[in-house]
Amino acid sequence: MEKREQIYEGKAKKVYATADPELYIVSYKDDATAFNGLKKGTIAGKGVINNRMSNFFMRRLEKAGVPTHFVEELSERDTLVKKVKIVPLEVIVRNISAGSFAKRYGVEEGIRFDEPTVEFSYKNDALGDPLLTEDHIRALGLATREEVGRIRAMSLAVDRELSAFWQECGVTLVDFKLEFGKTADGTIILADEISPDTCRLWDSETGEKLDKDRFRRDLGGVEAAYAEVMKRMLAHD
Ligand code: ADP
Ligand code: UDP
Repeated sequence: MEKREQIYEGKAKKVYATADPELYIVSYKDDATAFNGLKKGTIAGKGVINNRMSNFFMRRLEKAGVPTHFVEELSERDTLVKKVKIVPLEVIVRNISAGSFAKRYGVEEGIRFDEPTVEFSYKNDALGDPLLTEDHIRALGLATREEVGRIRAMSLAVDRELSAFWQECGVTLVDFKLEFGKTADGTIILADEISPDTCRLWDSETGEKLDKDRFRRDLGGVEAAYAEVMKRMLAHD
């Protein structure tokens, strides 16, 4: 399957049409942004790592019963996926306080919750991805009650799978962001990516940050951190 016209260029990936109207090719870039595009840079080799890691987890999730957009890895940076209409929600699952949760509610980072929390933001860069309640989601017509229920259940299933996997790798899954989409027949499936760009991953022993926070917070060693989690992931296949 080959790329046809470019449908979209986002901050981290490009999306291409293919000869099959139901399939897209996503192509992972090394470009990195943070703070709603205010901070820009590149992370050398990130596209290759995020493509392979995302596909690795999408395959495992399919086996665990979570339907995903993954079809086939075409090259280091390119993957064939099912075309979906993205539900404009950023679904964030948190196991431990960090990032915007810690800031918004004035708590320290690193507090483990008794149960994972699921929160929704409106995927809308112009508005700065504002937080949404489930009532807001329905009021705005972004998804129905049933769809939100399914998205929530799938997100918690992803958390169970990923948390268990990363634990075996000596990595703590702190939080992550998912996107879901609808196929032509209306089925909701997991789309977009699962990578150190979209997950907080802390070394279980030292607490060292092994994810995009190294870029966001100018901690240095960004490429090394991505390479480290990739190495640990491959060692536990
Ligand atoms: P952003 O749009 O936030 O800058 P990216 O650079 O990652 O993000 O761009 C990829 C875009 O493709 C995102 O808008 C994402 O919602 C969308 N997308 C991801 N998977 C699919 C899919 N299977 N079908 C259609 N669109 C998708
Ligand atoms: N996240 C993401 N894209 C976004 C916002 C958040 O992938 O646009 C991920 C982020 O990497 C982290 C989790 O979602 O793993 C929770 O992010 P948070 O809400 O704490 O926001 P941030 O601190 O990144 O502003």
